[in-house]
Amino acid sequence: MAAESETVAEARRQMEICNACRYCEGYCAVFPAMTMRRSFTEGDLTHLANLCHGCKGCYHACQYAPPHAFGINIPATFAELRQESYAKNAWPAPMGRLFERSGTVVSLLAALGVALALILVVALQDPAVLWSAQRGVGAFFRVIPHWLMITLGVVTFGYAILAMAMGARNYCRSTGSPQGGFDPGPATEAAVDIVTMRNLGGGGHGCNDLDEGFSTRRRWLHQALFGGFMLCFAATCTGTLYHYILGWKSPHAFLSLPVQLGFWGGVLMMIGAAGLAHVKVITDPGPVAKKLAGGEFAILALLFLIAATGLLLLAVRHTGAMGAMLAIHLGLVFAFFLVMPYSKMVHGLYRGIALLRHAREKRTAPAPAAAA
Ligand code: SF4
Ligand code: SF4
Repeated sequence: MAAESETVAEARRQMEICNACRYCEGYCAVFPAMTMRRSFTEGDLTHLANLCHGCKGCYHACQYAPPHAFGINIPATFAELRQESYAKNAWPAPMGRLFERSGTVVSLLAALGVALALILVVALQDPAVLWSAQRGVGAFFRVIPHWLMITLGVVTFGYAILAMAMGARNYCRSTGSPQGGFDPGPATEAAVDIVTMRNLGGGGHGCNDLDEGFSTRRRWLHQALFGGFMLCFAATCTGTLYHYILGWKSPHAFLSLPVQLGFWGGVLMMIGAAGLAHVKVITDPGPVAKKLAGGEFAILALLFLIAATGLLLLAVRHTGAMGAMLAIHLGLVFAFFLVMPYSKMVHGLYRGIALLRHAREKRTAPAPAAAA
């Protein structure tokens, strides 16, 4: 069995102090889940870390937070433990280790690499096509062949789904969750929590997004990013249906359904990604895991650039700039699919599993264990 990391040992030390203190019992799901345990395995700690949504409430309330000698800093420690869980459960394992060491560089290089490869493919067949204006039905496919676009999309997206499914399986095995068969009650509760991001509302008044004051901006920005992402996904699905079922080929009119879904999805994604990056810049650094900042900014930058290049592509699609912009936009999208299973994007998946396990435990667990 692999030796435990320093982060796991530190999380256990802090949870044992919290389990004796229990002042924060009503703050979030982490503390009730903590009180169901007298001791903490690595799997328990990983489960608790993924149950934490980083509201920072316990840090600002804690009488043992730095500079106290106990140095309790649950949000920062759990953020590091979550990151370790992404790398540890990643599939295939070497990719997890690669991204753990240099996720930012790998993400940006992947985006650059795919965009360059696409430009190269087009340039090799007919360089003029990259810079000359293309109009009318099938304009995009005269720049990047339909078969190449579909192949890269299916391969990269399929890889992302497979790697995330395997990662989720590894996570369930390593944390022992969720236990039991399908139960609609906990599953519904967890699904509502995920979709509404209820926990980020902090019970109505919000979370300590920036400092001791309460705010709901992180919740709204997360929802803008998630909603925008889903609208863009819906735009791709609608475009695919138009192409294969109705025989309507892109580019579509600005007021058509796929373009409208993509347009508003892109706007929301830009607002969400830029807003979340801004929050990270101006927030109180005390409860922040500083060594994770690079990777978090990189994935936000990637999401922002995907949305921005998508909107730029819409703006220049009838000009000679369309070819290069299409290659760059698709390069960023396909690179995003490749880095998704190793980035903070898996938090949604692991958090969903943690919420499901917690919803089940609440219904089946005996009364909280006495404080240690
Ligand atoms: S975070 Fe601090 S105040 Fe809250 S339960 Fe832990 S030790 Fe107690
Ligand atoms: S940071 Fe917020 S969600 Fe995380 S353990 Fe503390 S109170 Fe709970």
